[in-house]
Amino acid sequence: MTAPAQPYVPSYTSGTSDIPLLGDTIGDNLDRTAGARPDAEALVDRARGERYTWAQFIAEVDALALGLLDLGVAVGDRVGIWAPNCAPWTLLQYATAKIGAILVNINPAYRTHELAFVLDQAGISLLVAASSFKTSDYVAMIDEVRAERPALERVVIIDSVEWAALFNRQGDVARVREVSAGLSPDDPINIQYTSGTTGFPKGATLSHHNILNNGFFVGQLIGYSDADRVCIPVPFYHCFGMVMGNLGCTSSGATMVIPAPGFDPTATLEAVAAERCTSLYGVPTMFIAELGLENFESYDLGSLRTGIMAGSPCPIEVMKQVVERMGMSEVAISYGMTETSPVSTQTRVDDSLDRRVSTVGRTMPHLESKIVDPETGLTVPRGTPGELCTRGYSVMLGYWEQPDKTAEVIDRARWMHTGDLGVMDDEGYINITGRIKDMVIRGGENVYPREIEEFLYTHPDIVDAQVIGVPDERYGEELMAWVRMKSGAEPLTAEAVREFATGKLAHYKIPRYVHVVDEFPMTVTGKVRKVEMRAEAVELLGLSGAPTA
Ligand code: AMP
Repeated sequence: MTAPAQPYVPSYTSGTSDIPLLGDTIGDNLDRTAGARPDAEALVDRARGERYTWAQFIAEVDALALGLLDLGVAVGDRVGIWAPNCAPWTLLQYATAKIGAILVNINPAYRTHELAFVLDQAGISLLVAASSFKTSDYVAMIDEVRAERPALERVVIIDSVEWAALFNRQGDVARVREVSAGLSPDDPINIQYTSGTTGFPKGATLSHHNILNNGFFVGQLIGYSDADRVCIPVPFYHCFGMVMGNLGCTSSGATMVIPAPGFDPTATLEAVAAERCTSLYGVPTMFIAELGLENFESYDLGSLRTGIMAGSPCPIEVMKQVVERMGMSEVAISYGMTETSPVSTQTRVDDSLDRRVSTVGRTMPHLESKIVDPETGLTVPRGTPGELCTRGYSVMLGYWEQPDKTAEVIDRARWMHTGDLGVMDDEGYINITGRIKDMVIRGGENVYPREIEEFLYTHPDIVDAQVIGVPDERYGEELMAWVRMKSGAEPLTAEAVREFATGKLAHYKIPRYVHVVDEFPMTVTGKVRKVEMRAEAVELLGLSGAPTA
């Protein structure tokens, strides 16, 4: 007798939950949270030395919303925010949401060229900006581009006289409520520029419904309540800060703690200890920096229960250390992208430790995931790699005024094609193996850089590793590893890596080139710029031919 054929199980899952989606606007949801616990703490900004109870927070939000109405800001107008993390950022996020103005997040690392692009593309009429931060003189940069932009009617610098005057504390809040009552949760409320899978920045346009629900369910899966205090060192201009951080807190009554304007490992651990934070967020490199602090052991992190690592592949070793050394026993990994508000999959608190450190979890409640063959678009069987797609409430409305670009990533059935490669196992856990563009093809063999990176982490002297493909005459592409060494360790040679890997990795997966660096080229959100690494590698190695992009 022949064994019965294995039934074909497609790589498709839908996330279920007893908790329904929220149907309100961000402003109404905030009012509900604040009304239920007026005297509890809502927001702490350590650098500014500011603390707000929910009653104070809502009063400031309403005063700012009134001030915006006084200025003539109307439903659908675009209001830009160009500042590092600070309490005014959060106040503006909620004030604009209350009156239906669309907040446009501008990356604080942008320079004049990028600023001009975003101002024009989004049609920003009011820009709120910090005066300066680190090497960025925002006032000077705004002055440079402003003259040619009549559509930019007004610029308000945070902490200036105009900023203070924008808070109308005497006016009638009923005017704000009247405007709020006319808003739909499906209205656009936020634009975030992302390079997406390729090319020029595009403005992912997100609704109240998109981001309020995503923040809420991210928090629900790690058990947020008003007993939680969340340390948010990740940038507000990105969903990780303003959705998973701010909206995750305001939708569940948890306290938002801003440790510093920009990421600083010491300030972050100080904030956790001093504010008794129960949750800590970060991209992998942030956790690596915190764990690597010489005086790490001197911080009392005993209040930490949970947190989230996300944004780029989360090394298993780092996750283990976050659990063991930081005491974040209920830490989760989230996976997602700006275009999906952002989180599509997340590990659950009751998943086994192994699953929680080695996968990006399962599909979020009320969302669907599938993995397709990028060539045919057909769903692949479980265990087979392909492109990950997401569908449901979290998928953006579209790219701002770029319907053609939107149509390239969201198909007829409303599936968002992420450009990420993943594999789904029998129980629906997903592993991200790379990006479609990152996959290296060496002599016809597909190599997923993630796998090699995870292997290199097991080397005792390596703290961080990134693997890319570089052009090669014989094989088409060859593997190159960029590694960061433990302090005091001898720089590794390619021979040493080969010796370490031989017998453990198939020969075609062993990097031919090894390059020791102090830092990788990174975006502010902690994503390694592999395109830049490839270009640099071609020069470094004296290779001819275009870098594989
Ligand atoms: P962004 O739109 O800036 O949030 O970038 C989204 C991209 O970050 C995704 O398409 C993934 O390539 C990557 N990413 C986010 N979270 C993870 C994760 N947990 N593991 C691997 N890659 C991730």
